[in-house]
Amino acid sequence: ITGAIELMVVDIQCIMQALAPLADQFHTKLITTSPHAYIEGADRVDFDEHRALEIAREIVRMGIDNFPNRKETHIPKEVSRLVAGFSHEYINYALGGFYRGSFRPLNDAVIQGRLRGVAGVVGCNNARTCHDYSHEYIVRELIKNDVLVAMTGCGAIAAAKYGLLSPEAAKYAGPGLREICETVGIPPVLHVGSCVDNARILTVLSQMATEGGLGEDIADLPGVGFAPEWMSEKAISIASYFVGSGVYTIMGSDSPLANSPVVDRFISEGWE
Ligand code: SF4
Repeated sequence: ITGAIELMVVDIQCIMQALAPLADQFHTKLITTSPHAYIEGADRVDFDEHRALEIAREIVRMGIDNFPNRKETHIPKEVSRLVAGFSHEYINYALGGFYRGSFRPLNDAVIQGRLRGVAGVVGCNNARTCHDYSHEYIVRELIKNDVLVAMTGCGAIAAAKYGLLSPEAAKYAGPGLREICETVGIPPVLHVGSCVDNARILTVLSQMATEGGLGEDIADLPGVGFAPEWMSEKAISIASYFVGSGVYTIMGSDSPLANSPVVDRFISEGWE
């Protein structure tokens, strides 16, 4: 805890109720913006899309006004640089430039065996596991074995902390993936957004399928979706649309659904 946060804004992401009493211990103001997800002890500033800029300014002003209440801070000296915000449009551009943007080099790399596939490693941290451990371990193993990784959400933050979202991380990649990263100037682990942006990973896979040479459909691609430390119900709905789109999908750690044999069997065997 840094003591350097004047204000935190939350809506309907996975926000724990304990956040309000925690913020109370410091000068941090906690604001909720969704009328559907008020939190006891937090201030409310309801979001109205017709007044978005005005409301944003009001919230920023509240943060600035709270600055004089800041006391001693503990800001870690460690810095981890990253490149974030990849989309299928940018990957297209990175691989072929403005005039010849194309997924062809990526598909060719798979066909030639330089790249063994693409993995979406996504999802939460889970209090039942050692924080970040699975994300880091799995991602390092994947890139070492020439698998290009796309990440979102809290998993991406885990990878960022270990420096895996920077182009310099190519040194941890296998020879095929390293060659591609160094030629194109991209990290071996691509940050594609928050966990509600997982559909972007599907867009990348559909572009690969459309480009041709690897099969007719997403299900034919050497791709996998993996949530090693999932805990949120949102992860299940995301996994559902991954499976529904034909992606081989793995959910790690203990399943919060395991107490219901019916649901557990449905998602582990039924979806297959
Ligand atoms: S990755 Fe999981 S914990 Fe993180 S914001 Fe998304 S659903 Fe919540």
